[in-house]
Amino acid sequence: MANDYGPGVPVQRLAAGGTVSGFRVERVQEIPELRSSAYLFTHAKTGARLIHLYNEDDNNLFSIAFRTPVGDSTGVPHILEHSVLCGSKRFPVKDPFQEMLKGSLQTFLNAMTYPDKTVYPVSSQVEKDFYNLVDVYCDAVLNPLLTENTFYQEGWHYDLENPDGPIGIKGIVYNEMKGVFSDFSSHVGRGTISKLFPDTTYFHESGGDPEHIPELTYGQFRDFHRKFYHPSNSFIFLYGNLPSEKTLRFIDEKYLGAFEALSIDSSVGTQPLWGEPRTARIEAPAPEDEDGTASVICSWIVGESADAVSVFAQSILANYLLSTESSPLKRALVDSGLGEDLDDMCGLDSDLAQSVFSVGLRKSAPEHAQAVLGIIMDTLEREAARGLDADLIEGAVRQAEFHLREIISGHFPYNLRLADRCYRSWLNGGDPFALLAFEKPLSIIKEEMRKGGFFEGLIRRHFIDNKHRLLSIVTASPEKGKKLEAQTEEQAKRLTAGFTDEDRRRCLALTRALREQQSAPPSPEALASLPALTKDDLPREDRKVPFEKGELGGVPLITHPIFTSGIAYLDIGFDFNGVDAGLIPFIPLYLELLTRCGAAGSSYEQMAKRISLSTGGIDMTVACRTKIGTADGLFFMAFMHGKSLEPRFGEMLGIVKDLLLSPDLTNRKQIKDLLLEGRNALNSSVIHSGHSFAVTNASARLSRSRMMDELLGGVSQLRFLDAVVKQEDYDSAAGACVKLHDFLINRSACVVSVTAGDPSKFAGQLESLASSLPVKVRAVDGGGSLEIAFRFAVLCLPVKVRAGDGGGEAGHAEPVNMGYRGIEINSAVNFAARAWKINGLDAAENGRLFLLSRSLSTGYLWDKVRVEGGAYGGMSGMSVSHPVFTCASYRDPNLEETLEHFTKGLGEAVNGIPKDRVDQCIVGAIGRVDQPRTPHSLGLGETMDILTGRTGEYRREFREAILRATPEDLKRAAERVLSSRESAVTVLGSAAAFDKAASNGVAFEREKLLP
Ligand SMILES: [Zn+2]
Repeated sequence: MANDYGPGVPVQRLAAGGTVSGFRVERVQEIPELRSSAYLFTHAKTGARLIHLYNEDDNNLFSIAFRTPVGDSTGVPHILEHSVLCGSKRFPVKDPFQEMLKGSLQTFLNAMTYPDKTVYPVSSQVEKDFYNLVDVYCDAVLNPLLTENTFYQEGWHYDLENPDGPIGIKGIVYNEMKGVFSDFSSHVGRGTISKLFPDTTYFHESGGDPEHIPELTYGQFRDFHRKFYHPSNSFIFLYGNLPSEKTLRFIDEKYLGAFEALSIDSSVGTQPLWGEPRTARIEAPAPEDEDGTASVICSWIVGESADAVSVFAQSILANYLLSTESSPLKRALVDSGLGEDLDDMCGLDSDLAQSVFSVGLRKSAPEHAQAVLGIIMDTLEREAARGLDADLIEGAVRQAEFHLREIISGHFPYNLRLADRCYRSWLNGGDPFALLAFEKPLSIIKEEMRKGGFFEGLIRRHFIDNKHRLLSIVTASPEKGKKLEAQTEEQAKRLTAGFTDEDRRRCLALTRALREQQSAPPSPEALASLPALTKDDLPREDRKVPFEKGELGGVPLITHPIFTSGIAYLDIGFDFNGVDAGLIPFIPLYLELLTRCGAAGSSYEQMAKRISLSTGGIDMTVACRTKIGTADGLFFMAFMHGKSLEPRFGEMLGIVKDLLLSPDLTNRKQIKDLLLEGRNALNSSVIHSGHSFAVTNASARLSRSRMMDELLGGVSQLRFLDAVVKQEDYDSAAGACVKLHDFLINRSACVVSVTAGDPSKFAGQLESLASSLPVKVRAVDGGGSLEIAFRFAVLCLPVKVRAGDGGGEAGHAEPVNMGYRGIEINSAVNFAARAWKINGLDAAENGRLFLLSRSLSTGYLWDKVRVEGGAYGGMSGMSVSHPVFTCASYRDPNLEETLEHFTKGLGEAVNGIPKDRVDQCIVGAIGRVDQPRTPHSLGLGETMDILTGRTGEYRREFREAILRATPEDLKRAAERVLSSRESAVTVLGSAAAFDKAASNGVAFEREKLLP
């Protein structure tokens, strides 16, 4: 079949009506836009449904989903999602999930609870590994042990450490949800959805509300599994190049064949639409300085998520109304000054059975709510009445086409993104292929547009005349945050008020039993039941990415000819080394502004239209790394990234040229909007990614490249943005952006990288772009000003040196540059990080340290910080880009205990990790190194390796060091970390946690997140 998506569609010899391995073939459809054939099967005996998206990709995916609607907010599906992965009939290991994470080449291994379904996906590029994973996951979901203690550990239990102490409430999910509930923005999303769907499962919190989790009993938990985790309620999605017949036989013979068909009602039901709009007032925890502010959100139910035309049309409309600088709703709301920027919740949510469209402002105020609603409705009325802007809506359609075609991965890898799209229609009773085969619904939409009035009609129907509209006013309440912190204690007191001595004895016994079970090593017989790879199963070599080096009139050109679905990717890098130190904190603003500004006489609204008509997006990033083979040599470049369909490459270059050569970087209003947007986005990510803020902040005191990361995206950048916003000094900001641009855009310090099917055909166009860039002479050595930048950072982050502070193991040098920094945030849980500087690394040493970090992440820290400590995560990291080794915890109820575990974990490696565990870890580490990448990240990644000196030779040595590692190697690596004399600690946590640490003798230099 001829198409413009590259190679033809592979097919299998299976026809509708036939049978294969206990399954009936229901339907076969070629989907050229995904280079795949889709097969729909039904398991004859149980009615289990299965889809295989068959193609040439070797990154095979197996995903089993169950519909799991709820009738309360006890979080039963979430607790089950955790618990089924704690041992099963054939694999009675206490944590098979973790064992497979350690010792497989998985490219994805996780489980997710949604408001109406629970999904278990695994994928691997190696066949033997893939079937091992499928085996373990099928047994986990269909035959789990679900012991009582698993329920207590993963869900909730009364925790009593010593006979006279207070009784607390603990549990992994309980704790995880406490973290979620201390986040303002998650209340905006969850609160709104709950109020918008008062009559369906979406009214409840499927993840679990900490207030209600303790209502769940072990019996109810088991019943929920019996009811919903059955093949007759399952939806299995396969993706990849393994023949259907083989996988179907595997599943049928080993698992499905043992079950009988069951009739299960797991439908979500439909929310009846209201006759009148409603208003909801919600209070959510927030820091003191946000007291009295509010997010004001307007939401509608806008159609069925199983209807492909409706979903695509709504998402195009959402893009038109909200996503670009000239989008009418975005403009009207942001320009109104009634709030700071669009709330995170804005846009289309088609994850639920009925799609929801939301729009509104954050950092607004309750008294502005009616005015915000007025602006939204007026804008929609105006758009419907006068007709949509033709260029802007055409741009939105092209964006949709581009993004559906592009092979990308973000939160989920590509194969899982397709599974997700399929589930949306499939689980809601729609055509399972409808959202995958996107050409047909898109052509229907284009046809409707040609007839005229299509989107105007949608606006009338779905927004103006639709009475199922909710205005949610979510107020920031510091009081509520404080209450939340005390909630666990009060809840425990209330629930245990009438406890007898006998009850207390039971709590004590349970707490001890759980501790014992958690700290007991898994039995060797149980471990041996798990299928495992050996080192011989591992690919010996990295996957090679092709590249060619050339030049464009003196500018280095690196090209990567690889399959990209007809898309061309352009990356232009400019060297920032030597830039005036005082300008560095303005870099993130400048990079954002440069791709969202007016240029060459056009306004920024006009440029935004050009970008959406001709490209798949243009954006900028900055990369700071320590150059390979240097102690502290800084690689510091900004990149402009552009992508377009190949025929539009010339148009894209025209836009890039206008942005680089004649941007208008002085629009004060635009600068103000971007600063507010940047400050708010960074601020709200602290609660979601507190661990990475803590890691960056600790590492910043040890390495220049990480110090740059801190200045450009860490707590320091947040404080800087906050100060600029409060001072309202937009003139200085504009001046800084102009200076940065003057410095950066320079033909003598530039490199161009192109990734496309055949990049050579763009050489002429690129040559003319390169020759138009200005040439500037720079001081050869930028080191001087970097020293200033370094001092600047130190001023921003006062380093308190406390020689000989604790933490070092006996027999090792005491760190000399040890600062304990405590950053107070509004959260019931903590994020702790410690970093050690490692000098003079070569490829092999880096490989062994990387392996050590994997061993800690999947071994000691997982066991102590997560399983025993009740944190959501404990992890360790070693990157080739920075000479720093790190340990961290995520959503952690503890603090000083966790810091101790970081050094104890290294101590365990010094004492010797058993050889079989090291071998298992080697498999997992190679799996990490070989993660599949998207076409763009393959090309850009290879270019970055070339620029930073990470040669093929380096990568070979790195890989070999991992493959050959012994317990003795890990011992030496751990000793190396422990003997580092430069180490720093940063914890983001609550004031109460720091008080408690101080009373236990661990004192922090404390500061507030924002002054
Ligand atoms: Zn969870």
